[in-house]
Amino acid sequence: MECVFCSIVDGSLKADFILKMENVVAFKDINPKAPHHILVIPKRHIESIVDFYKYPLEVAQLHEAISEVSKKLDLKSFRVVVNNGPDAGQAVNHLHYHILSGRKLSWPPG
Ligand code: AMP
Repeated sequence: MECVFCSIVDGSLKADFILKMENVVAFKDINPKAPHHILVIPKRHIESIVDFYKYPLEVAQLHEAISEVSKKLDLKSFRVVVNNGPDAGQAVNHLHYHILSGRKLSWPPG
């Protein structure tokens, strides 16, 4: 089945990019849950965070991208979320980190 985030990576689907790095990209979520809602993804199609440690270059660059996004958008407080598996709300089976900011975020999440 076609992967929507692979289509964003290969350019066949448009996205509002915040950042493009060698192995990672960041773009605005199409259905934002906060004033700032950015997705950071590895270009490589990795389905689950459980396998992410196998790709240390991507792991490091993804965390660098979170830092870059926070600086670029001047985010003072933000939350990083990974939904892993259907019961956690993962709808797209291409690993993605959500960055949420710009409003008071309640805890614990639902
Ligand atoms: P999750 O529920 O953790 O799998 O999150 C998937 C996220 O991808 C949701 O917040 C969607 O709004 C977002 N999304 C789905 N398709 C697109 C797209 N084409 N461009 C940007 N964000 C998308």
